[in-house]
Amino acid sequence: MDKLLWTKVVEFHGHACPGLAIGFQASLLAKDILEINDNIHDEDIVCIAETDACGVDAVQVILKATIGTGSLKIDYKGKQAFNFFNRTNGKSARIVLNNYEKKSTKEDNINYILSQQPKDIFTVKNTNMEFPSKANIYNSYICDKCGEKTAENAISMINNQYICYSCSQ
Ligand SMILES: [Zn+2]
Ligand SMILES: [Zn+2]
Repeated sequence: MDKLLWTKVVEFHGHACPGLAIGFQASLLAKDILEINDNIHDEDIVCIAETDACGVDAVQVILKATIGTGSLKIDYKGKQAFNFFNRTNGKSARIVLNNYEKKSTKEDNINYILSQQPKDIFTVKNTNMEFPSKANIYNSYICDKCGEKTAENAISMINNQYICYSCSQ
């Protein structure tokens, strides 16, 4: 197990926890399965995570799939499952954590997860999602109600006025 990388991930996330360990191992398994090499660039790898918890921070550090580049998205299903896509070779996979017997302390859970081979604690399935396209650049319009500039996919035309999503609620 790559201690240096784990330290980097913990530093980014702010604390060590079982969820982060799961994201760490899922990212390493994704590297293996999707044949991701170490000179990846931002936006090469896309992750659509079915969890919004700690693990996604490991994905951001290890695979450079980040919120800001639109290459990390949350499609919340309340599962420890991650859909990974490699834009450089078209490979994709859905990586799902296997059920395991919870240990009594947080530390024991972290140690257990990190001591396993990634392939032994996850099931690899086909992702049933479409291969994500590159980040969309939207035109913006000024909301006629609040005056704030809003991307076109979040603004609608109501009674001949542009109304942003927040103002339409
Ligand atoms: Zn955490
Ligand atoms: Zn508005």
